[in-house]
Amino acid sequence: MAVSILGVSFSDRTMDETVALLVRAVEDGRTVHVVTANPEIVMQARRNPDYAAAVRGADLIVPDGVGILIGARLLGRAIPERVAGYDLLHRLMAEADRRRWRVFLLGATPEANEGALRALQRQYPGAVYVGHHHGYFGPDEEEAVVRRIEDARPHLLFVSLGVPRQELFIARHKHRFTGVCMGTGGSFDVLAG
Ligand code: UDP
Repeated sequence: MAVSILGVSFSDRTMDETVALLVRAVEDGRTVHVVTANPEIVMQARRNPDYAAAVRGADLIVPDGVGILIGARLLGRAIPERVAGYDLLHRLMAEADRRRWRVFLLGATPEANEGALRALQRQYPGAVYVGHHHGYFGPDEEEAVVRRIEDARPHLLFVSLGVPRQELFIARHKHRFTGVCMGTGGSFDVLAG
C-alpha cells in the first residue's frame, strides 16, 4: 500500500483511512511518526542522508501537495487524494476533542506557539493541553524539552521546527514517546493567524 517516488514511499490511503489508522494506533498505545511530505521534503531527502534516514524510518508518509499526486500518476500509480498536513492536524484535533486526548505543541516562535495553543483550545476544548514549548532552543536545552514531552505523555505531538529539523527531532526521540508524532511545518503560524 505504498507508492515510491524518488526513494520516498508514500501512503496511498485517503484522508479518512489515514485518520482511522492513526486513531487505532493511538488507542493501541503505539508510536507513529507521520511525515506529511511535499516535493521540498523529497528533494531535501535526496540532498541530506541523515534526513533521508529520518524520513525512511517514519511509520507513515502521506502526500501533502498535488506535486506528489502528479508524480505518482506519471509513474502510472494512483494516489487517491492529497493528505495535507494542516488538514490532518485538524482532523486529529477533532478526534482529540472527542476522545479527550493529551496534546503537546512544540515549535514556532513563543508568540506563534502560544497563539496556536489558544486557537486550538478555542476550537477543540475537549482535548487536554498537556504542554507546549517554542522551537528556538539550543542543543543543550533539547534534553529538557524532550523530558517535558515524555513526562506529559501526549497522544498527539505536533512538531513545528521546519524542515529538516522537525523530522530529525522526531526520529531522534520517538522511542521515548507514545502516540502520533508529526512534523507540522508552518501550521502554528497559520493557526496563530
Ligand atoms: N521553526 C522553529 N525553530 C527553528 C526553525 C523554524 O520553531 O529553529 C519554526 C518556524 O517558526 C515556523 C516553522 O518552524 O513556525 C516552519 O518554519 P519554516 O517555514 O522556516 O520551515 P519549512 O516551511 O521549510 O518547514
